[in-house]
Amino acid sequence: MITTRFAPAPTGHLHIGHVVNALYVWETARREGGRVLLRIEDHDRQRSRPDYEASILEDLAWLGFTADAPPVRQSDRTDIYERALGRLRHAGLVYACECSRRDIIDAGGSGAELRYPGTCSSKGLAETGDRAIRVRLPPSEEAFGDLLAGPQRQVPSDQCGDLLVRDRHGNWTYQFAVTVDDYDQGVDLVIRGLDLLHSTGRQIQLSRMLGRTEPPRFMHHPLVMSTPEQKLSKSDGASGIRQLRAAGMPPEDVVAAAHAAVNFPLPNSKIQTNS
Ligand code: GLU
Repeated sequence: MITTRFAPAPTGHLHIGHVVNALYVWETARREGGRVLLRIEDHDRQRSRPDYEASILEDLAWLGFTADAPPVRQSDRTDIYERALGRLRHAGLVYACECSRRDIIDAGGSGAELRYPGTCSSKGLAETGDRAIRVRLPPSEEAFGDLLAGPQRQVPSDQCGDLLVRDRHGNWTYQFAVTVDDYDQGVDLVIRGLDLLHSTGRQIQLSRMLGRTEPPRFMHHPLVMSTPEQKLSKSDGASGIRQLRAAGMPPEDVVAAAHAAVNFPLPNSKIQTNS
C-alpha cells in the first residue's frame, strides 16, 4: 500500500492549483489502494498564519478531500527535526554558517537559485543561535525516474550547494523539514507540481544522509498557469476557492474546473514504490 501526502503551506488561501494537486494525490491513492496524509507546512514562522490553515482545512473538507489520518503541523515537530539534525551532526555532515544573502552573492554564489559556494564549510564555526546550519551535499549526480516527468539527472551540489537546514532566524527550511517528514511519516510516493522537480535530487540525497535506504518515488504534475508563461500565484484572486464558493459555485464544479485546467496525464502502469 502506498502512502502519499497533501502538504499545503498556510501562507495563503486554497486555490485551484492546490485542487489540481489534491486531485492527483487523492486519485492516485484511490487507484493504487493507498492512503493520504495531510501535512500543514508551516515551517516558515514569519509567513504562516493560523487563519490560513483553518481556511485551507475548511475548503478541503468542503471539496470532499478527506485524509486518512488527522493533520500534522510542522510547527509541532521541532523535536523530530532536532533529532534528525543531531544525526547529521553526529555524522559530521553539518556546519554553522554566518553568511548573509549579500555575502553569498559577493562570494560568487550564482545560478537561478543562488548556489552556496561553501564559504563557511571549513571554518569550524560554533553553532550559535544567530548562525544558520548547512548540510554538506556530496558532489555527485542524482538520477531518478519521475513517474510523470520521466528520467531525470540533477547535481544538487552544482544547483544549490550545501543545503540550509535551519536559517539564522531559527526556521527549519522547506528542504529539510519536508525530507525529514516524508521519511518519518513513511511517505513513499511524493506527488506535487513541476515547480518542485528541481528540488528532488537534493531531497533524495538528504534522505539517504538521514538514514533512509529507499527514497520515496516522485510524481511531478503540470501546473495551472495563469498565462502560458506564468504559473498561478496565490494572489490570483479569480482562482481562490473562497471566491468561487462566495460566487455560489458548487464543489463539484470547482473540482471539474481543476480537472479541466491541466490535461491530467496519469502514469498508466501500477506504481512500484521503493518500500
Ligand atoms: N508545502 C509545499 C507547497 O505548498 C509543497 C511541498 C511538497 O510537496 O514537497 O508548495
